[in-house]
Amino acid sequence: MTLQGTNTYLIGTGRKRILLDTGEKNVPQYIANLKKVLLEEQLEIGKIVLTHWHGDHVGGVEEIFNNLSPTASVCKYRRKEKADDFLPSGIHIDYLNDGEDITTEGATLRVVHTPGHTTDHVVLTLAEENALFSGDCILGEGTAVFEDLHDYMKSLSQILELKPKVIYPGHGPVVEVKLFHP
Ligand SMILES: [Zn+2]
Repeated sequence: MTLQGTNTYLIGTGRKRILLDTGEKNVPQYIANLKKVLLEEQLEIGKIVLTHWHGDHVGGVEEIFNNLSPTASVCKYRRKEKADDFLPSGIHIDYLNDGEDITTEGATLRVVHTPGHTTDHVVLTLAEENALFSGDCILGEGTAVFEDLHDYMKSLSQILELKPKVIYPGHGPVVEVKLFHP
């Protein structure tokens, strides 16, 4: 289901970065690697943004929040069918809005609500690189699974209109989009 595992991204160019997705729970190597990068590069995580509620994207939040970035805000889009109760109490969620910009030095991310895989799924465009962080909406290899095909197809055509040059998926390798930029 997750190909080689879940991709997470530290976004921005300054000291304060945005962490996109957090991997699965109980992966100490990931937490150790993240800690090492933060120390070596003198970085802080200002915001943790979650593409959707699935465990392989949100599982690491508690550990990251408690050990590496206790002041980070945790952001995601609100689920439609059920409360967002997968995070331990004590971690407050800042709910994202469709079209909202999330900024840090060197990065302007725009939230695009793209339901289908889940009701709360978002992708994010990175204006500086004409790039798209696609979460589980588009994978680096193979086809994504979905809860709702109609919503999913609508979200895909919305992504087509964004014409990204490069796609950073939630799983699998980075995709260079030759369709719009041959
Ligand atoms: Zn997923």
